[in-house]
Amino acid sequence: MTYIFDPMPTSSVAVADSDARIPVRRIFCVGRNYAAHAREMGRDPDREPPFFFTKPADAVVGDGETVAYPPETENLHYEAELVAVIGTGGRDIAEAEALDHVWGYAVGNDLTRRDIQLAARDKGRPWDMGKGFDRSAVIGPVHPVETVGHPDKGSIKLSVNGEVRQDADLAELIWSVPEIVSILSRSVTLRPGDLIMTGTPAGVGPLVAGDVCTVSIAGLGSIETRIGPRG
Ligand code: MN
Repeated sequence: MTYIFDPMPTSSVAVADSDARIPVRRIFCVGRNYAAHAREMGRDPDREPPFFFTKPADAVVGDGETVAYPPETENLHYEAELVAVIGTGGRDIAEAEALDHVWGYAVGNDLTRRDIQLAARDKGRPWDMGKGFDRSAVIGPVHPVETVGHPDKGSIKLSVNGEVRQDADLAELIWSVPEIVSILSRSVTLRPGDLIMTGTPAGVGPLVAGDVCTVSIAGLGSIETRIGPRG
C-alpha cells in the first residue's frame, strides 16, 4: 500500500496525571442543551430531541495553548462544556448501558465564529464554518471514569480575564450524558476516541486578542486558553 500523501498524524488529547494520550476519532457537539442558553440564542428550550454538529478531529487544542484569533469573523465566542470521551464503541446503545461506553471526562471550550454560525443558521445552511474551523475545540486533560466517576452535577464555570461569564451546574443539562450517547448511537456507530461536547450554559460572549479564557468543572479541574492576534 502506497499513499500519494503522507497520512495526517493522529490527533490526540491529554490524559490527566499520565503521559498517555487519547487518539481522537471524531468530535460530536450537542446544540442548545441548557434551557437558559437556548433562550439567549432566541430558541424555545422545549425538550425537542437533541441535535448534533461536528468538528474535525484535528481542531483539538490542549490546555494552556494560545489560539490565534481565527479568520473571517468579528465575533469569536467561548462556550464552556463538559466533554465525554467514548472508550467502547457501539451502535443502538441502550440508555441504561450508555455510561459503560464512556472512558472519561474533560473540560472543553467550543470556540465559535458566532457571526458565521448565526448567518448560516438563519439561512438554513450548515454550521461547519461557524463551528468546525481550525483550532476550534479546546479539550483539557481527560480524567478516567475510574477516578472521577460520571459527573452529573456540580459547577461549570467560565471566566474571561478573571471575570465570571458563565456560571451553571451540570444538573441543568437538558439531555444527560447517557441519553446523548444512546441517541447519538442510533444515528452513527460510535468508536473509541469519539469525543462528545455536551453543550454550553447561558452567558456566551465574545473573546478578543489578548483575552485569557478559563473554564472549570467541579472534579475535572480547569483549562486556560489565551487568544492571540489574528493568525
Ligand atoms: Mn457548544
